[in-house]
Amino acid sequence: MNKKMKFPPELIGAIRDGNTELLSALLKTGDGIIRQLDESEDRQWREALNLSIRLGNEDGMDTLLQGVKFDFRQIHEALLVAVDTNQPRVVKRLLDRLDQEKGNKMDVRSFSQAIFDHSIDNSQFAPGVTPLTLACQKDLYDIVSMLTQKGHGIPWPHKMSCACLECRNGRQYDLLKFSLSRINTYRGIASRAYLSITSDDAMLSAFSLSRELCKLSQKEPEFKPEYLSLEQLCQEFAVELLGMCRNQSEVTTILNSSGDENRDCSDEQAFEEGIPNLSRVRLAVKYNQKQFVAHPICQQVLSSIWCGNLSGWRGSRTIWKLFVALGIFLTMPFLCLIYWIAPKSKVGKILKIPVIKFLLHSASYLWFLITILLPGSRTSYRARSTWFGWFETLLFHLGFFWFECKEVWIEGLRSYFLDWWNFLDMMVLSMYLASFSLRVLIMLKAHFLCQDQNNTEGCVYFTQTVRDDWHQEDPQLVAEVLFAVTSMFSFTRLAYILPAHESLGTLQISIGKMIDDMMRFMFILMIIGTAFLCGINNVYVPYVISPQLGRFNETFRFLFWTMFGVVNENYVDMPQFVFAEFIGRVLYGIYTLVIVIVLLNMLIAMITNSFQKIEDDADVEWKFARSKLYLTYFREGLTMPVPFNIIPSPKAMCDCVKTIITAVSDTKYASCSLYYLSNIKQTDDNQLSYRRQVIGALVQRYIESARREFEEAKRKGNADTDTTQSDKIFQCPMSKQTFANITGL
Ligand SMILES: [Zn+2]
Repeated sequence: MNKKMKFPPELIGAIRDGNTELLSALLKTGDGIIRQLDESEDRQWREALNLSIRLGNEDGMDTLLQGVKFDFRQIHEALLVAVDTNQPRVVKRLLDRLDQEKGNKMDVRSFSQAIFDHSIDNSQFAPGVTPLTLACQKDLYDIVSMLTQKGHGIPWPHKMSCACLECRNGRQYDLLKFSLSRINTYRGIASRAYLSITSDDAMLSAFSLSRELCKLSQKEPEFKPEYLSLEQLCQEFAVELLGMCRNQSEVTTILNSSGDENRDCSDEQAFEEGIPNLSRVRLAVKYNQKQFVAHPICQQVLSSIWCGNLSGWRGSRTIWKLFVALGIFLTMPFLCLIYWIAPKSKVGKILKIPVIKFLLHSASYLWFLITILLPGSRTSYRARSTWFGWFETLLFHLGFFWFECKEVWIEGLRSYFLDWWNFLDMMVLSMYLASFSLRVLIMLKAHFLCQDQNNTEGCVYFTQTVRDDWHQEDPQLVAEVLFAVTSMFSFTRLAYILPAHESLGTLQISIGKMIDDMMRFMFILMIIGTAFLCGINNVYVPYVISPQLGRFNETFRFLFWTMFGVVNENYVDMPQFVFAEFIGRVLYGIYTLVIVIVLLNMLIAMITNSFQKIEDDADVEWKFARSKLYLTYFREGLTMPVPFNIIPSPKAMCDCVKTIITAVSDTKYASCSLYYLSNIKQTDDNQLSYRRQVIGALVQRYIESARREFEEAKRKGNADTDTTQSDKIFQCPMSKQTFANITGL
């Protein structure tokens, strides 16, 4: 009974022909004895079992399983084959068999970690591939749900830099196997089947996974293409899920929940004015999910909120829109006054509509630029004593400062710094602030010096001297230069509104990318430029003949303008010293060749490339940029445009008084508010369950449609193979499988 069974040579032939009787005769299954296998012929037994599964010969497989005792590793591989050929019934039978087999001896955890079992050699499956990850990679929804119900899971890979015992051993033992198993695990986790079956909120998981994969692609550049393609898969999955929405209420529920339950509740209260919080869209913007944001469903919601109840705005003609914008530009102070007095009036409510708010803020910014351009303010800024002339610019800046403070308060410091424009704002504001404080410093200094009777010289210098007599480092000169630079930046800030228009927005994105290219190019330019600068400069240092060369800054200027071809190339000539002249000419010639022909053309190629990339994806890029712009205006508060926002409004004062009163009488109404709170909690719970239902429904629809598509493809594939009569092995289980799929196991 304990005698090991030899591998009968006829077995393979019997399996191939599907001859069950011969098979049972060979295995002598009739006597009810389960035979142990001979270790040395392990591979052949495994292949016999795999072949019977691959051929879809279920009776043969049953006979094999009944007649001989397969161990854990053999069944593990058989499971992989069954998953590979997509046979849910076989998988179920093997799993049941495995349950009998292992009893309590082997838990699921060790099963899924069989990758570290070095004895699974010459298997046709890559290391780290478990039945579940394989089923996930192939998007076999039935098998994935069956395996997860059995308690199988994909353990999340450890961090790249993890130093735990398991990772250290893995790395030391077999680095290739270790990293392959990592990437294979990620392949499983990032699959549609795994995301949709195992996670509560598949869309959210796809978002966060896509971000994680993006980070990993930078941390592990060896597998960058793999990670990036998985990331693309996650993004597409989220987009397809969104596409499964059937009505507006589903869309609203999905787009307004961030998944974080505590945050959902608090955000709900922050937007009482009819603007939904759109936390999922904000999250998508934060995670750079361009396709998701540019999806028609998302865009439609954004546009409808943007125009509010001005339903005519979207369809109206550009001329009319420009006319309205001009009207708002001219009447801005009056509109602000009306809003200040009566924020709840009809005009006040119109001003709160995001598109009008946007126009109002743009108008105020234009007014600010006009004040910078006005000659009056500039001359008075330059004069020594008076400061009333630049008062309006200062007023605007106080407004901007207050606006930024409120923005940080509302959005939080972290998300404030996620927007690159805010860095520009901070820079401009701090430079203006420095400029103004220097001016104030001069006035204070003049005041105190004039008080002092002994120091008349200083008093005269800071009050009456003319520009020509000022010191080189006079604070006013510095202040003026700062003012000039920041006024340039202020104009640049105007590019912020460009995404509102389609072609201008696309151009703006391209310019941003080109500046990015330029930065990288500058590094190379700097290295090569400095090399030639040193070389050419050192050739001419000993000779004082040439006025343009031999001194560092002069040489630099000469070489810089050479790039644009606006200098006289005779400067390198030095007829008295032939050898130095020759070397100088050669170096200069090489410099011109390298810089002008190689480097400048490389820059142009880089710029063209990134321009083309943006242009190819222009629609998505523009919609993404526009949505970012929209979202900054979908905020409660910050309605008042800039110079007027420093005046505290009656509404704000009212709120302030209310806060104080509630703080004082907090204890008195505690019981009352408790009741109120429990009420809120209940509605939140209802919303939460509704959200879960919606997401569940979306996933269900998605799986159904995927299944339909799969069958469609199968039918077409089968039709093709029928005509070509290619491989018989694969055709048989598939046609059976189609039936199993339709019946849902
Ligand atoms: Zn670890």
